[in-house]
Amino acid sequence: MLRISKACAVDDMRKDNAPAAYCESGETVAFECRNCYDDKLTLEGIPDEEHSLHNPATGPLYVRGAEPGDILKVEILDITLEGKGYMFHRLGNGAFAGRPDITEAKVREFDVSGTDLRFNNRLSFPIDTMIGVIGCAAAEGVWETVLPGDHGGNLDCRRIVKGSTLYLPVNVSGALLGMGDMHAVMGDGEVLVCGVESAGTATVRVTVVKGEKLPTPCLITSDGANFATIQSEKDLMTASKKACNMMLDYLLANTDLDVYDGTRLLSIAGNLIICQIVNDYPTVRMEIDKGILDKYGIKLP
Ligand code: CA
Ligand code: CA
Repeated sequence: MLRISKACAVDDMRKDNAPAAYCESGETVAFECRNCYDDKLTLEGIPDEEHSLHNPATGPLYVRGAEPGDILKVEILDITLEGKGYMFHRLGNGAFAGRPDITEAKVREFDVSGTDLRFNNRLSFPIDTMIGVIGCAAAEGVWETVLPGDHGGNLDCRRIVKGSTLYLPVNVSGALLGMGDMHAVMGDGEVLVCGVESAGTATVRVTVVKGEKLPTPCLITSDGANFATIQSEKDLMTASKKACNMMLDYLLANTDLDVYDGTRLLSIAGNLIICQIVNDYPTVRMEIDKGILDKYGIKLP
């Protein structure tokens, strides 16, 4: 199996990044990923932040045959973690920025080697590792890996876990897929601007899909039960409207629902969920029961 070493990492998803590896459509590839602190965080902080990547993504992977207008199907087959998990109280970011009682850029380390994350004597949480950064090169511009966008990137979507299937737009020849920023555990919203940040290896199958229109980035959840479109924009309301309208347009194009019943349906059975509010481009997802697609005979590629 092809493996991409964590030595091959980028901090943006631009079209002219040199490929770290090449593969065929349908191939399985392992991405060895640094943690979001470029594997340099210690209990004292990041000693050399100036020379560190900010949110490194391993890759990019060139998938032969992928051309602009195609879709890259990314099946997350497995995720394993290595080393410790970290949470870093950076001052001045996230939902708790400005609190007078948060005065230290504290680091806490967690054991992520088992099946559960022990938070304290009373609380533990199942480890459910998600991939925070995953995307193809953007069509234009330098999309730093701290940003999400139509190309994917720093989506911080809690649904991108082992067993889920993500669909990303191909904007450039070869797609140039990269990923990193794993979280052993994270809640929707990522309100402290970090999950339990971890290094690890994601094994994915990448398949080029031609001639299909999907509201990308979108995914099928690991249990196969839900379908979500994941959208990022300059503010939460704009991102929310985009996610809702992309799902609506997908339903209108693939069912006999009219716009009135389509909007009724999403208001009854669609769930709008905040993925992250950590940067200037918040991400939300509109999620529906995949059974709705099944009842209309819609088969995802
Ligand atoms: Ca992230
Ligand atoms: Ca992160």
